[in-house]
Formats: sequence, structure tokens, C-alpha cells
Amino acid sequence: MEKPEQLIVDGKRLDGRAPEELRPIKIVAGALGRADGSAYIEMGNNKVIAAVYGPREMHPRHEAQPDFAVLRCRYTMAPFSVEERKRPGPDRRSIEISKVIREALQPALFLELYPRAVIDVFIEVLQADAGTRTAGINAAAVALADAGIPMRDLVSAVAVGKVDNTIVIDLMKAEDQWGTTDMPVAMMPRKKAITLLQMDGHFTEEEFKRALDLAMRGCEQIYEAQRRALKEKYAVGGTE
Ligand code: UDP
Repeated sequence: MEKPEQLIVDGKRLDGRAPEELRPIKIVAGALGRADGSAYIEMGNNKVIAAVYGPREMHPRHEAQPDFAVLRCRYTMAPFSVEERKRPGPDRRSIEISKVIREALQPALFLELYPRAVIDVFIEVLQADAGTRTAGINAAAVALADAGIPMRDLVSAVAVGKVDNTIVIDLMKAEDQWGTTDMPVAMMPRKKAITLLQMDGHFTEEEFKRALDLAMRGCEQIYEAQRRALKEKYAVGGTE
């Protein structure tokens, strides 16, 4: 796609969204039969699968920790998930994203309940349109809950940024590529605790506050979609 002259025209983004509007979101809990827990998510044109295995015995054994379970995360992009074929296998980007996803999820888990064990989280991006790390976190949180792993809270994530001098939420590829700022945020919504905050570009202090507030409101909406997906499978939440 060539760079358009403007990314926001008459207050509307290229896909017709308002600046504060999320892309359509769809979540299915338990999308895979063989995993202990799983979820499929679509956030706009992103399509991502998360699979959870464990808690199970750690291999290699010497990586086991005597007092808590190790959370292991692997984020990968399918070769066909992006416009230019992605070379299979880990690269700097996927290693970094796997690390920040682990750090975003870890505070929600009671890892001390499972000494010597490992919990494996696999995130596979099938189709990418910017915001795959946040979509991956949203799917992984549902997959962890689907695996029956006790959690303090879910983790919900979305990116915010600045495009044509406007603060926007849930950037698509064109906005990620040609916008000036991209800030992925993850939080535990009930605890209002931020577990991931990265920034590519610049915000003034005032813009940062507005963007973070917008991200937190977006996470609340995503949290509701995550809960709905789990309810559809388990009817959690009693008569709510
Ligand atoms: N992307 C791509 N090829 C790559 C890596 C990324 O086309 O090898 C695209 C993909 O659409 C991705 C977007 O660039 O979602 C933004 O990537 P970024 O590293 O900002 O991470 P994300 O926003 O997906 O978390």
C-alpha cells in the first residue's frame, strides 16, 4: 500500500473508524481440542491463536524452579501472515515480543502454586495487521483461564498512538507504519495495574496521559469481550 496523503479525513480513519473506536473484536475460548487451554481472536484483520499447555513437568529439568512455575511464551508469525513472506523461525522481533508478552501475563498468575512446573503459552499469528502483540496477549489471557489456571485477573491489551496529530486507539498497519507514535499497553482491568507499556515515537506529557486513559478504556471493552468468550464456554459469573 502506498502512503496516503492523510490518514484521517473529516475525523474518520482509513477504515471509517472514529479515533477512539476499537476494531471489531471476536474471541472464541477453547478453539483447539488438544491444548489444555486455547483461544482464537480477531481484532480487525488480525487473526491470532493462543494455546496453553500446563502446568506440566519442566523440560529441560535444570530449568525448573524449586519455588514457582516458569511461564514460557513463544510468539510466532506464520510465513503467510504478512504481505511480504515472513521467514519462519525466531528473529529479534519475535524474541522481544515473546519476552514482553510473558512479562505482561506473569503478574496475573499464581506461579508459586506450581513449583518445578512450566506453563507454556504459544501464540501464532495467522494474519497480521498491526497490534499482534496486544491481540496475542488478549488471546493468551483467555487461553490461560480456559486451561483452568488460577488467575488474579485477566490481562487485556491494546495499542494507542498518534496519527495525523490525533490520538487514536487500536492502530492498523497503515497507521502503525505512517503514524508518528505507537504505544502498546496491557493491564489487569479489575486491578487497574499496567503490565506492559512500550512506546515507539513521542508523546507530550499531556498526550501521554490522554493516550493512556484511552488505552485503559479500550482494555475495559476488551475485558468484557474476553469475559463474554469465557462465559460462552463455561457460563461463568453466575446469573450476571
Ligand atoms: N509486520 C510485517 N512483517 C514483519 C513484522 C511485522 O509485515 O516481519 C507488520 C505486521 O502487520 C505487524 C505490523 O507490521 O502487525 C506491526 O508490527 P510491530 O512490530 O509494531 O508489532 P505489532 O503491532 O504487530 O504488535
